[in-house]
Amino acid sequence: MNAGESSFLETLREQARQISVQGYGQSATADTQPEAHAELGVLLDQNYRSQTRLSMVACKAGCSHCCHRVARARITEVIAVARHILSSFSEEELGGLRKRLYDYERVVAPSLGRDTQLLRPTCPLLVNGLCSTYEQRPLMCRGIFSPDAGICEKAKLQPQSTGFPVLPDRMQIAQSVWAGLEQGLNENSRDSNIYDFGRALRIAVENPSAMDTWLEDGSGFGPALIPPPRVDPRPSPASPPHPTYGADEEPLGKFDVTGLMLSQYLTRQGSFKEALSSANGSHPAYRLWKVRVPFTYASEDEVLEWREYFSKALDEFAASKFDPKEAYDALASFCPHELVYQQFNNRDLLTRLGDLLCNQIAAPALPDLTQPIDKLRPPGKLRIGYISRNLRNSSCAPWGLGWLVNQSDDFETYAFHIGEAEDQVSARFKEHADHYYHLAPGPPVPQQARFIKGLDLDALIYLDVGTNPRTTPFATLRLACHQFAAWGGPETSGLPTIDYYLSSDWMEPTDGDLHYSEKLVRLPGTGVCFLQEKLQASTMIRSDFGLDDGPLYLSVQHAPKLAPKWDSLYRKINEATGRPIVFIDMPRTASQVVWDRMRKNGVQFVLLPHMGIHDYLALLGQADVVLDSPGWNGGITSIHALHMRSTVVTLPTDIKRGRQSLALLKAANASDLVARDEDDYVDLVANTERRLRAAKDLDPAGMYGDLNPVTALEDFIRRLVPSG
Ligand code: SF4
Ligand code: SF4
Repeated sequence: MNAGESSFLETLREQARQISVQGYGQSATADTQPEAHAELGVLLDQNYRSQTRLSMVACKAGCSHCCHRVARARITEVIAVARHILSSFSEEELGGLRKRLYDYERVVAPSLGRDTQLLRPTCPLLVNGLCSTYEQRPLMCRGIFSPDAGICEKAKLQPQSTGFPVLPDRMQIAQSVWAGLEQGLNENSRDSNIYDFGRALRIAVENPSAMDTWLEDGSGFGPALIPPPRVDPRPSPASPPHPTYGADEEPLGKFDVTGLMLSQYLTRQGSFKEALSSANGSHPAYRLWKVRVPFTYASEDEVLEWREYFSKALDEFAASKFDPKEAYDALASFCPHELVYQQFNNRDLLTRLGDLLCNQIAAPALPDLTQPIDKLRPPGKLRIGYISRNLRNSSCAPWGLGWLVNQSDDFETYAFHIGEAEDQVSARFKEHADHYYHLAPGPPVPQQARFIKGLDLDALIYLDVGTNPRTTPFATLRLACHQFAAWGGPETSGLPTIDYYLSSDWMEPTDGDLHYSEKLVRLPGTGVCFLQEKLQASTMIRSDFGLDDGPLYLSVQHAPKLAPKWDSLYRKINEATGRPIVFIDMPRTASQVVWDRMRKNGVQFVLLPHMGIHDYLALLGQADVVLDSPGWNGGITSIHALHMRSTVVTLPTDIKRGRQSLALLKAANASDLVARDEDDYVDLVANTERRLRAAKDLDPAGMYGDLNPVTALEDFIRRLVPSG
């Protein structure tokens, strides 16, 4: 690019920035901002016309191979197109569009925004080979030109080998305008993320109020977000010799975790044996990674075999020679949470694992961060910290925030978000905590841990220990006088550094204490204070999901929760109702193993693709029965189902995670939907009259805002900590 071209593009970017700053300021509304989008479109198109030396193109009306892809846009562009559609499309046109939007969703949603450049969905706005909102189309659609339609056709048909061609001079013009738009949005403190245009458009068309919500607080389009690119896990990385530690050094995270991405990828694909054999580097991280089990199983026998494997692999690692500092680094890629799906009491296995992680690895690697903290506390308020990778829109948020926002004045609250991304929910943690810290991955964990320890906390609550590798290296340390695990970690942590497990009196069985290495704290009721979320269903009806009008028996739990021992129960439901069960597929959970097993075991079912929250709520609202998964119930999903006033039927088992819905139904005044045994479960599902009677007093409001667990938690901590 020469100096003249550079300054031309710079000028263009600045012009776009000015339009963006003025058009998307704080006074912008969903009605006014399409004007700014139109201005940006005019700016772009005029510059194509005025640049006489641009390369030649083969593009013409009716040529549309390039519209079989995931188009990208910012929400301002989506709003402009959606407003145009809602104000000018006839009912018939709108009906056709809604159908195409759903078809698009079915193709694209399972990828969860990853690898979208390889997908070839038909853009929902393409009608008879033409863009049906051509004048309003997104800016980057205006930057796509090709010298040869044949290459475009090949890119449509063979995405793995050929990408859509780009003419750099024209694309640079579009990118300059797009960069100016982004800059203006940032200057106006507006969301400038990039979204899947089709999925975001669907949200705007199905829930027009989402556009106002986005203008108010930047939220509402999360399911359509395209995450930033990351390293492709598929090619096997070479294993370079890893750096080692000197005698005086402390673990600083020298191991490159990308070396394990192939193994992680294969695990999520259901190829667990291949995953194990691909973890073959010389660093202890590769050997430690093998102390795990698959997500899903082809039979109950297989569950037992892998259980035995886990125990043996654990013993082998514990007996092997390793440098504790290197092994501590390995914790950043280690969290064998798949064990929980086996639906056993894992206390003994996890206690042995916890001993390895804390006493053989963390303690020798970081002696100063693993000693008991036993000192006189300074006078003043009690200091309580909440730590999680998920202080953001996640299943931890509604109840984690519920504890935090209701904390009494004699507590000083700290929130530590140790995950990458922050969002609107993180902002709420920031607003309500006396002190909020975003300790993003990157700096060495010991440095971040020392910072936390230096705050002299009386209590530190891990909201979801045991569910993700980011938390493991922190949780193996002693950073506060008293350390707790909570509901987000579905079972015992097994770690000797975690003193108490905060649970629910209604969920725990009488012998619940036997399931934890921690001391069990039975908080009253559900144990948490759920904050009511803003939940809005889309307008989808059964036929939009491809379902018939017969009774809908729905299970929304992801495949790993459907353990083999329950297949016969689902088959009995088929027989009693004469209907298939509707499940939702969830990508990256090795789900194919489960669907194949169920087919083999004679379970009749229909599989729907993974879907966004609004459609999922609409589906829940139309179910005759929501079948809670025995062994490991729905938590937040059961709350969503009850919130939609759906009839959730549950069969409690003898461990807490198999008794979650029992507690939620009790809170929602519908305990008669709790079955006594398998036959009773089938009867409750199939017997409509009984079920309606059992659900007649269901009141979702009872699940929300219970302050008793917060008070009990505070009393417990006050008793633990002598006043200064
Ligand atoms: S980019 Fe390719 S497919 Fe699209 S209009 Fe141009 S030539 Fe046709
Ligand atoms: S919005 Fe229009 S131009 Fe863009 S991909 Fe869709 S149909 Fe094609």
